Amino acid sequence: MIYLDNNATTPLDPAVVEAMLPFLTESYGNPSSGHRFGREARYAIDLARKRVAALLDCDPSEIVFTSGGTESSNAAINSALQFDPARRQIITSVVEHSAVRRHCQAWQGQGCNVTFLGVDPDGNLDLDELEDAIGPETAIVSIMSANNETGVLFPIERIAEICRTKGVLLHTDAVQAVGKMPIHLRKSGIHFLSLSAHKFYGPKGVGALYIKKGTPFRPSIIGGGQENSQRAGTENVASIVGMGKAAERSGESLAEEETKVRPMRDSFERAIARDVTDVTINGQRSARLPNTSNLSFSSIEAQSALILLDQLGICCSAGSACRSGSTDASHVLNAMQLPEDRLRGSLRFSFGRFNSDQDLTKAIESVPAVVKKLRQLSKPAHPKIPVTLHH
Ligand code: PLP
Repeated sequence: MIYLDNNATTPLDPAVVEAMLPFLTESYGNPSSGHRFGREARYAIDLARKRVAALLDCDPSEIVFTSGGTESSNAAINSALQFDPARRQIITSVVEHSAVRRHCQAWQGQGCNVTFLGVDPDGNLDLDELEDAIGPETAIVSIMSANNETGVLFPIERIAEICRTKGVLLHTDAVQAVGKMPIHLRKSGIHFLSLSAHKFYGPKGVGALYIKKGTPFRPSIIGGGQENSQRAGTENVASIVGMGKAAERSGESLAEEETKVRPMRDSFERAIARDVTDVTINGQRSARLPNTSNLSFSSIEAQSALILLDQLGICCSAGSACRSGSTDASHVLNAMQLPEDRLRGSLRFSFGRFNSDQDLTKAIESVPAVVKKLRQLSKPAHPKIPVTLHH
């Protein structure tokens, strides 16, 4: 199989599995226990925290382990709203992942004022519109770092500067950015950042929330006081260890994202643009993640392409994989004002550091073949010849 769906999830790095195994077998202590088993688990969690902090260039005390990107983003937004009841506005974008978008909609249902900023056809925000939207009622601005469907990057440091000037909190969903591009939180004005291990070759169901030192925070999950009373519940030790190892490995191979992954993605796009007519590369004119290619082919149904590609051993995604099973048009491409025909024929290919040159060759062969086949099938088998009746 050729796995080109790394934005949906990544395979586990073998080094991550190896690091986790002892904590699934003999090292089963509860990190809150005072005995040696407990201390062993506590030490492993502390090491993982240091490794995640190193990847993000922040202090380990600023990292809170969670169950993943969704929980981290929910926690940041909830905290901001709880902190100052006078501030009832959230500012976000229309292209956020459902982890943020649906959460904001839920708050809207509870009477919050949610501003959804739109994007232009290249997937970019209007920063003047963002600045104008911030007012005395704004509790938090939540804008993603990198889009999961198109890979388009938002200028998060410029956004942080606007938020700093206006005195409002900023959360960024960096689930797709972490491990694919350098992040330097020490120098940044970002208050909260969400990340998820399974997007950078770690296990599923574990993530973290970065909370900048000094930022007010009220936890969403309250109980036994773990994670310095910021996220209760006995720690998922093996997964946290796996996340720490994944962070370390991602830091070591970050350069490969530019030297290996980006050239692979760019060669793929060049080949498709050469061999297929009527294709657009969504977000191509914007700054993008090095690994993501979102293509729209006219006159095909993405779901059918997905099935044919799967039969040829190629895994990709129609729109966002997190919405798989849904045939709704992508809210991201919709916001970018793609015409109906292009919306229906959109596929996302996301490369990763475990893809090989052979994977690329096979994809370059298969994708044009599948598109041609579907276009032929969509033409009527017996084209209607205008018939003129002569009496
Ligand atoms: N945010 C983005 C941008 C994502 O791509 C995803 C996963 O697809 C999530 C959040 C959700 O993360 P998790 O699966 O860890 O809850």
